[in-house]
Amino acid sequence: MKKFLSIILITVCLACGCSSASDTEKTPQKVQPDEPESIDIFAMDTTIKFSAYGDKKVLKGAKKVLTDLEKKVSVTDSGSEIYHINQNGSGTLTGDVSDLMQKALQMCTQTDGALDISIYPIVKAWGFTTGDYQVPDESTIQSLLPMVDYTKVEFDKTTGNVTIPSGMTIDLGSIAKGYAGQQSAQYLRDNGVKSALLNLGGNVQTIGSKPDGSPWKVGIKDPNGDTPMMVLSITDQAVITSGGYERYFEQDGHTYWHIMDPATGHPADSGLCSVTIVGDDGGTCDALSTSLFVMGLEKAADFWGKSNDFEAVFVTDSGEVYITEGLKDKFALTDDHADTTVKVISR
Ligand code: ADP
Ligand code: MG
Repeated sequence: MKKFLSIILITVCLACGCSSASDTEKTPQKVQPDEPESIDIFAMDTTIKFSAYGDKKVLKGAKKVLTDLEKKVSVTDSGSEIYHINQNGSGTLTGDVSDLMQKALQMCTQTDGALDISIYPIVKAWGFTTGDYQVPDESTIQSLLPMVDYTKVEFDKTTGNVTIPSGMTIDLGSIAKGYAGQQSAQYLRDNGVKSALLNLGGNVQTIGSKPDGSPWKVGIKDPNGDTPMMVLSITDQAVITSGGYERYFEQDGHTYWHIMDPATGHPADSGLCSVTIVGDDGGTCDALSTSLFVMGLEKAADFWGKSNDFEAVFVTDSGEVYITEGLKDKFALTDDHADTTVKVISR
């Protein structure tokens, strides 16, 4: 609650000197070099676009980094390392996937279980794995919850060996896309790319700035509409959003979404409808976008207050917009949302 005492209320308007996305685009800029090369990919259940100023061959290499990772982490592909562990109760993770598992478990611990990689049976019971949506009986949820406990995952980071108790299923889906963006970006950087934007179904990873030296403009969707409500100026960072609007169903006047509260086995009803995380490490950002959504504004703001490696945008169910202070000078409302009040959360 203390955090809220230090919230500075600012009503942002264009007249105050912030520019909208379209204004920004009108600003005269240096002539850009060639158009970026781009490549469209369908992977990780989403539409992905990699655009980079560089050689197309290098982009294909980055695509391979992504698709190789997907093959190893998929929860449904019978050839994947995660599938093998879920079937057999144990197995060995290699390379990137072992690194991803280490990061995921670390984030489960750091977020005190708001992120839990063993939530899968609950996600499945609600039908989010197949699209066959249903509200499960409370008795079903209660029978599944004892097996939702990441602390029971045994992982040896030196060997990559994993053991899970019988009845448990693990899934790295809440962090894999951010991590995949980060790894693909690293491949591009290692191959000389200095400027790129990788869009993994709305989760964005940037490399450097635009070729003219100005920051990338990344739009944040209005959770209650179709257009961006704000644009962030980003250089060399990831911008990852978790939104209740991304996958949901409605029944008897209720909306149920795919972000689950591991404590209850129900969709997280935290008062937030979208969380965007900005930071250097895409995997961390993805883990945080999901878990801070689960925590709700107050806990999420406290969590941010004790961290120093990310910034965030929160939109509440009632349409209030909060940003952490590190984004204060990096955002602009779009014309359509110019009269939105943005509240800044300070340390
Ligand atoms: P998306 O992958 O749609 O961008 P997220 O990164 O927020 O969105 O991940 C949501 C996915 O993670 C869900 O579809 C579900 O499979 C899984 N999930 C839902 N709630 C949790 C949770 N509390 N902890 C870990 N994984 C979760
Ligand atoms: Mg996530």
